[in-house]
Amino acid sequence: MRILLQFPEGLKKYALSHAQKLEADGHEVFLSSSPSYGACDLAIDDAEKIHADEIVHFGHAKFPIPSPVKIPVEYVEWKVDVNLNDLESALPELKQYKKIALATTVQHTHQMAAIKEFFSSHGIEPLTRKGVLPAHEGQVLGCDSTAIKIPEAEAVLYIGDGMFHALAIEESKPVYAFNPYTKQFKRINEDIEKLRKRRTGAIAAALSAEMFGILVSTKPGQFHLEVAKWAKKELENYGKHAEILVSGEFNPYSIANFTSFDAYVNTACPRIVDDVDLFGKPILNPNMLEEMLKLKR
Ligand code: SF4
Repeated sequence: MRILLQFPEGLKKYALSHAQKLEADGHEVFLSSSPSYGACDLAIDDAEKIHADEIVHFGHAKFPIPSPVKIPVEYVEWKVDVNLNDLESALPELKQYKKIALATTVQHTHQMAAIKEFFSSHGIEPLTRKGVLPAHEGQVLGCDSTAIKIPEAEAVLYIGDGMFHALAIEESKPVYAFNPYTKQFKRINEDIEKLRKRRTGAIAAALSAEMFGILVSTKPGQFHLEVAKWAKKELENYGKHAEILVSGEFNPYSIANFTSFDAYVNTACPRIVDDVDLFGKPILNPNMLEEMLKLKR
């Protein structure tokens, strides 16, 4: 079988040993060296060009791709165990709550039952649910934190590396993050609020823009052409001008060469808007555009 292997940036260092193993089993193996940012980001173009029979996508769980994918995709999750005893440092703060919602990334979802057991044994009721886009109970993505939307939870605990997923948690309840690698535990509502304020600022700034560039990604899990067409129509009805920009990868420096745009609407990965400083101009997700359109010109 001809197989295309795809790894996210942090796992590319392990690619060679997987390729060699599959080659030893008699497969013809190619490595995609395109950047890979998430489960939404399948290397379909690379696979089609080499006539691959299958893509093996490492590091992420299955993701609902909106457009049909003709090549079979096998998702190979990357599991990393966290030392549950390290969570003890979070107990003095968390013990003020009776019920907490738990969230984590795909690397740790296999430990969710044990994490829940840990909190139950310390008198805190752990609550989990499956979000809309993620594959697993309690799993959050950078673009989907619906797993923590549990009304009876008094607070939210995110367990995972870095702040990318943690900052996707839109919640007014107390939100805490525990990093199992650095063992750092902290309340992150201020960081979430900062991000929210930046987005509100972008909406206000976009209001005075006249010409909008609407970004459409050709990445299979981020391709939302209908949303882009909707945005163009709505902006034009609102008295603005808009053109649709199509690309597999949005490079802010290359986009800046279209000097006529005053602001952008992003229909690709919703976290692109957090790179507003790189774009140097207001950039809105569709829900932010809806907010803007409700404002009087
Ligand atoms: S759309 Fe963005 S945040 Fe969501 S899975 Fe893809 S890369 Fe991650």
